[in-house]
Amino acid sequence: MLTAKTRLGKIISLGNNYKKENLLVLRDTEKFSCPVCGEAVSLKLGNQRIYHFAHRSGTICKDFYESETIYHMEGKLQLFHWLKRQQIQAELEYYDPIIGQRPDVMFYYEGNKYALEYQCSPITEEIFIKRTNAYCQHNYIPLWIIGGKHIKAKRSNIFSLSNFQYFFIRETKDRQLILPSYCPEEKQFHILSSIIPYSVKNTLANHFQSFIQDTRVDEVLTPNWKVHSNFSKWTNENERNTMNWSLHPTTDQSRFLREIYQHNLNLYLLPPEIGLPVYHSLLIQTPGIIWQTYLYLDSLEDKWPNDFIDLKDVERNFNYRIKTNEITIRALPQLTGVSSFFAVKEYFLELEKLGLVTKRSETMYQLQNRIYIPKSNREKEERRKEFLQKYKSILAKI
Ligand SMILES: [Zn+2]
Repeated sequence: MLTAKTRLGKIISLGNNYKKENLLVLRDTEKFSCPVCGEAVSLKLGNQRIYHFAHRSGTICKDFYESETIYHMEGKLQLFHWLKRQQIQAELEYYDPIIGQRPDVMFYYEGNKYALEYQCSPITEEIFIKRTNAYCQHNYIPLWIIGGKHIKAKRSNIFSLSNFQYFFIRETKDRQLILPSYCPEEKQFHILSSIIPYSVKNTLANHFQSFIQDTRVDEVLTPNWKVHSNFSKWTNENERNTMNWSLHPTTDQSRFLREIYQHNLNLYLLPPEIGLPVYHSLLIQTPGIIWQTYLYLDSLEDKWPNDFIDLKDVERNFNYRIKTNEITIRALPQLTGVSSFFAVKEYFLELEKLGLVTKRSETMYQLQNRIYIPKSNREKEERRKEFLQKYKSILAKI
């Protein structure tokens, strides 16, 4: 930690750029204690890159600091200085006794109070939700930023994200979904946007990186660099991934395969309209190709042109698939206001652009054309080429 109390109860913050010789004198003459638990802490002035306070071993409060690493302390200190350089009122390791939480940096920006949590070590979903809710209930806007060491591209624009990394997805003021991270070694922000997963872990995403000295706070809060996703790339990755898991399916995937065979469908002969990328598909952990096939079986397969499709029925079927664990919703503690069914609604909007359905009211669609199921590999390839050609421009805008 970077702050402590002196004997007289004054907070000393190492965010204030003290010189080492002054700190050496202070260490010999002063006694420091932890502002949270009151236990004695020592001032560490070793040859490590960053001076800090440390609890003695055996202190329970240590857990509070999640065995804070140098990387973490460097990161929060750099983020604190970054805010101060922009003339933003900020406090390092501000302790709020009412909620018993201590954001790495508390700051005020455009009339709002923010709790910046720079998180480098995994915490449970339960703790993540608890802290997030406490901030929201006490008029803080939480700003969770993940340590950037872990967000690395597998290939260009392809990322592998863990459940924990997904916790950091936040909705911006203009309703973009972004994942902010910061690396104090590179001194760079890495922000992912247009995160369109094609499997539980793997996703296509746009990656924006920017040196901290060139980045303004609003560029992290509401980035203004919309880039459209590459639809063909997503489709290729999705197909490759589907091919891979179909060779060694898990229990859930086998259940899915059995069900589609019962409907005379074949995973390799699914039409190009099933398995489309939609902006909010990250709300659903189950890959698009699976949940969209279920949706087809439940709500589209038995429909004929001019038949109505009631979204309330679609939602009921969707929820039933969730209940039976055939569709899994992703844990996104910061997106509590957005229902996963939103992704299904977006899918219907795509089907409308493709001329398959027409929207008649907020909850009612009418079928125009049935989705054509290819009968052979050759037919599938032909349909696919035609589809990509014709709809590239429509679907690229996600
Ligand atoms: Zn303590």
